[in-house]
Order: sequence, then structure tokens, then C-alpha cells
Amino acid sequence: MKSNIKMRLLSKVFQPLITIPKNAKIKSTEVTCKSQKLLLECGLIRPTSSGLFAILPLAQRAMDKLERHICKHIEAAGAQRISLSSLTPASLWDKSGRLQEMGPELMKATDRHGKQYVLAPTHEEAITDLLADVGPLSYKQLPLILYQISSKFRDEHRPKHGLLRARHFTMMDAYSHHASEDCVLNTYERISRAYRDIFEGLGLKVYRVEAPSGAMGGSLSHEWQAVAEAGEDSLTICQRCQHAGLEAKCPRCGGEGEVVSSIEVGHTFVLNTRYSSPLGACYTDAQGARPPLRAACYGVGGSRLLAACVEAGGRWPRGVAPYSALLVPPKEGSKEWQQLGWSAVEQVYSQLSVLPTLRDDVIVDDRCDMTIGKRLMQANRMGYPYVVVMGKAALESPPRYELVCESSTQLLTMPELLKTIDTIDHGNMAAEKVTA
Ligand code: ATP
Ligand code: MG
Repeated sequence: MKSNIKMRLLSKVFQPLITIPKNAKIKSTEVTCKSQKLLLECGLIRPTSSGLFAILPLAQRAMDKLERHICKHIEAAGAQRISLSSLTPASLWDKSGRLQEMGPELMKATDRHGKQYVLAPTHEEAITDLLADVGPLSYKQLPLILYQISSKFRDEHRPKHGLLRARHFTMMDAYSHHASEDCVLNTYERISRAYRDIFEGLGLKVYRVEAPSGAMGGSLSHEWQAVAEAGEDSLTICQRCQHAGLEAKCPRCGGEGEVVSSIEVGHTFVLNTRYSSPLGACYTDAQGARPPLRAACYGVGGSRLLAACVEAGGRWPRGVAPYSALLVPPKEGSKEWQQLGWSAVEQVYSQLSVLPTLRDDVIVDDRCDMTIGKRLMQANRMGYPYVVVMGKAALESPPRYELVCESSTQLLTMPELLKTIDTIDHGNMAAEKVTA
């Protein structure tokens, strides 16, 4: 095949598929939920050890997009990105009291001098120490919101459900520091709105539920729970006012609740001086006194959220699909193949790539020794938002292509196809703007 334009080809993607014979009886007790099964069988992740995974190219692309989506919303709320080391001196965890409290869940490492480190499961100690170290901030510099996206390590008692409960996962964690409690609460609500936008942009139904603060400490916390069968948590949704909580009866309107399984995709906490007091992080107020900083922290599980998107079923959310569109050319040797040739595939690829929402985001399933049907089946299982098939109607004049997406399957000419995708995508973007 000679080609003049550079197309992304599926045959070149490292995607170790696992094909399970149709009638095979699978004894696997390890694959326990939809996202784990799909990510594994479609060659997106690979387990390497208990609760540890290699993220393969297609999942990494999705993860990169998810991170950009999260960054956009969290930065719009005023956060600045940083990067903290995964190794936090154990002495800081001792000072906060969590070395004891979190006990066996902490993964540890020792350097050649015998100094102990915690492989950070979260970064409250590290960020608070950073702010203590730079010396007292002035009240004029507050509030200060810092965030990172990084690996976290937890020696989970029972790693489960693939990426949903791993021992090494990614988290977007933000930390805000303030002079007054009012300011903490204002920022807390602002970041909560950013969280809503993040989840709505993914098309996920996520409830903010008041929760106990647990080992994190602090005065107020909310779990962000996505309704999903595989969830290890549960919440009660009021049939009358949709309030979500942990109580059987709705505290807001007294209505009856329906209990559903859910996945905790995020957790936010008002910490106040829980960490700044023991770790000595203070600021200088207008009178020159040095009270401890007041803080809140916000965590979204990146890899867990990605798996939750797959758990939700259907196709990938538009903004995080590994590729937005897959192009399926005719089977080798078919009449269409002979008459159209590879140049027609390149032409369709270029035409699709003209749409700003598809630029650099179209891939060709060039495994043309396989039938269209088989490739289409795999594409639908994988869940590309748009699949464009060059079937028999591609020989018509003007040629028509099959567009398979969440809402429909239609035979369309190229202008109609581009218009349809553009309309759907702009609908999506408009929906995101409304919530922004
Ligand atoms: P869980 O109750 O599910 O163990 P957690 O309360 O321990 O969660 P947090 O400490 O609040 O979780 O961490 C913030 C976020 O990090 C969670 O909301 C979740 O999205 C993610 N997370 C926590 N543990 C894991 C894990 N083992 N694997 C993947 N993501 C995780
Ligand atoms: Mg936990």
C-alpha cells in the first residue's frame, strides 16, 4: 500500500487483544467487573502483579485526555499545577500521626542511609511541609490552590475490579490554603462546582454525598459517588427530591430512598488546621501574628474514573475516547476494495480529519484481511464514539458511508456525515459550556 498522507493505523497500535472462544467456560475469578474485562480483553491494560497494571497505548491516550479535561476545569477554578515526589519522608507521616493510623496500607521504602520513606498514598503531609518550608506566606497571598496529577500507592487489603481498586493508581489531588474558615468554605464550593463540571462533561451521573472524614481528619467531607453496578459503596437516592445520602430516609424532604451501588470517584475534605498545626505551616496575618493555615483537599481518582466511564456502559465519553473515530475500509479483495483502492480510504480519512473535533483523532482499522463485520463488532465493543464504514454504498455516486454512533446507524454522504458529527459534537460542547 502506497500512501501520501500519514494515517494512524490500528494494525500498528500495541493492543494485545485477548480472544476468548465463544463457548469457552471461563474459570477466571480474577475478572470481576465489566471495565476490568473490557479493558483487559480489548488490550488496553495488562495486569503485572496483584493490583498493578501496565496502561497500554489506547488507555494511555484516554488517560491523557481525561487529565487534560480535569486540568481545564480545576485550573478554571484557580488551581496551579505542581508535581510532588512520590517519596515522602516517613518522619512527616509520623508528625501527622498517620504513620500509625494508616499502618499496613502504606507502602514504604528505605534509602541507602536507612532513611525511611512512604510511597505517597496522598500528599497532605508533603504539601503542608512545602508550605511550612517556604516560610510563612502573607495573608495577601491567600487563598493558594495547588494541584497535581500523580501516581499514588496503597497496599490495599484486597485489590479488586482492575483499575477500580489498584495498589498503584493515578489521582488528581488539589490542596487549598486559606486565612479564614469562610474562605475555605467558599473555595470548597468553587472546586465542588469544578468537580460537577468534570463529571458532567464525562456524561457520568455523580452524586456528592456527605461523608465521614476517616483517617484524613478535618471537619467536613463529601464523597463523589458514581452510580454503577460494580461499585463497592452504596448510596440512597431520594425518589422524591433526588438527594443522595447514606440515610434510609431523606433528611431533606422525608421521602423514601432507593439504595444503589456506587463507585467513589472523588473525595473532598475541609481539613482546617488538621495538618498545618502538627507540621508547622502558618501565615502572617495583617497584625503580624502567625496563625496556622486553614486547608481543604480534593482528590479525584484518575484511573478509577477512567474505569468508571467504561463501567457506565455504552461508548466512550466523547472527550476521553482513545480515538474519536474509527474508519473501517473494505475487505481486501472485495469489489469495493478493488474499485475504490487505498486512495479512497486516504481521502475519507482526510475529509474526516478536517473537522476540528476529529483532528489527530481518527484511526483506520487497516486489518483489511478481516471482514467488515468482524472489525465493526470489535469497534463497537471497544466503544469508539464514531465508526465510519466503507461498505457497498461507498461505490454509489455520490458515495455513502455508514456512520455508527451511540444514537444511531445511518448511511450518509460525506457532507451529511460531517454535518451529523459536527452537530453531535457541538451539542456536547454546548452542554459542557452550560455547566462551566
Ligand atoms: P475507598 O473508600 O474506595 O478505598 P478512599 O476513601 O480510600 O477510597 P481517598 O483516600 O478519598 O479514597 O482517595 C481519593 C480518591 O482516590 C478516591 O475517591 C478514589 O477515586 C481514588 N482511589 C482511592 N483508592 C484507590 C485505589 N485503590 N485504586 C484506584 N483509585 C483509588
Ligand atoms: Mg481506601
